[in-house]
Amino acid sequence: MVDWFRRTKKSFLGTEKKVIPDGLWLKCPKCAEYLYKRELDRNYWVCPKCRYHFRIPSKEYIKMLIDGKYEEFNQKISSNDPLRFKDSKRYVDRIKDAHAKTGNYEAVVTIEGQISSYTVILCVMDFQFIGGSMGSVVGEKVARAIDRAREKKLPLIIVAASGGARMQEGILSLMQMAKTSAKLAQFHEQGGLFISILTDPTTGGTTASFAMLGDLIIAEPGALIGFAGERVIRQTIGVDLPEGFQRAEFLLEKGFIDIICERSGMKQLLTKILNFFNEKN
Ligand SMILES: [Zn+2]
Repeated sequence: MVDWFRRTKKSFLGTEKKVIPDGLWLKCPKCAEYLYKRELDRNYWVCPKCRYHFRIPSKEYIKMLIDGKYEEFNQKISSNDPLRFKDSKRYVDRIKDAHAKTGNYEAVVTIEGQISSYTVILCVMDFQFIGGSMGSVVGEKVARAIDRAREKKLPLIIVAASGGARMQEGILSLMQMAKTSAKLAQFHEQGGLFISILTDPTTGGTTASFAMLGDLIIAEPGALIGFAGERVIRQTIGVDLPEGFQRAEFLLEKGFIDIICERSGMKQLLTKILNFFNEKN
């Protein structure tokens, strides 16, 4: 090899690769800034530079909203794979893996706890659990949480994070849309308060059922909210779609949601709302 092609000495500074210790830093998917994980954790998992809201596990969300201790109910219900479904992986294995990854038994956690001393029923979906998809167990747990809120006359809050219906359970997943919607209608008739919080992403059958049925609908900034994906819509209606048409900001402008709230202010906002409705009663 001729020496011309080989750099024999360092000609300028700064060629050394930065070594980033694994697991300590994260790259922001929006602004590409390197962020220190511990700092992010203190900052509600929001990028300090561009305010990008990272997806967070249900446990984190509960910790952020609930005062201290809480009671989780219907924790261990899990799907029994009615269709014996298999794609690249068996559905039962998919559930096992999701459990190992998240510590949860399903894609929604339902609890009773307090937000600034107001007792509430809170459901938090977990996108890490098979894309936060709604199968028969998610539908059942949400339905039971609604019933509990109705019977105990407590406010209901659902934090959505979902890719939609769970394919692996076919039509049984789709039936959860009707079930949760009917339960909410009953709750509404009896004067219950339902606050829906939409996080990134809230799509498909989840959007098309309980997520958009809130008396108040709050969204996190930049959250993707929609029913079908952009490509499918474009192909169906044959029209180019406006930029960001499925983001929280666009939906607010068009009147589909009520408020956009940063994660750091979410508990304060909920407290204000709960306080308002409490005084009204
Ligand atoms: Zn960023």
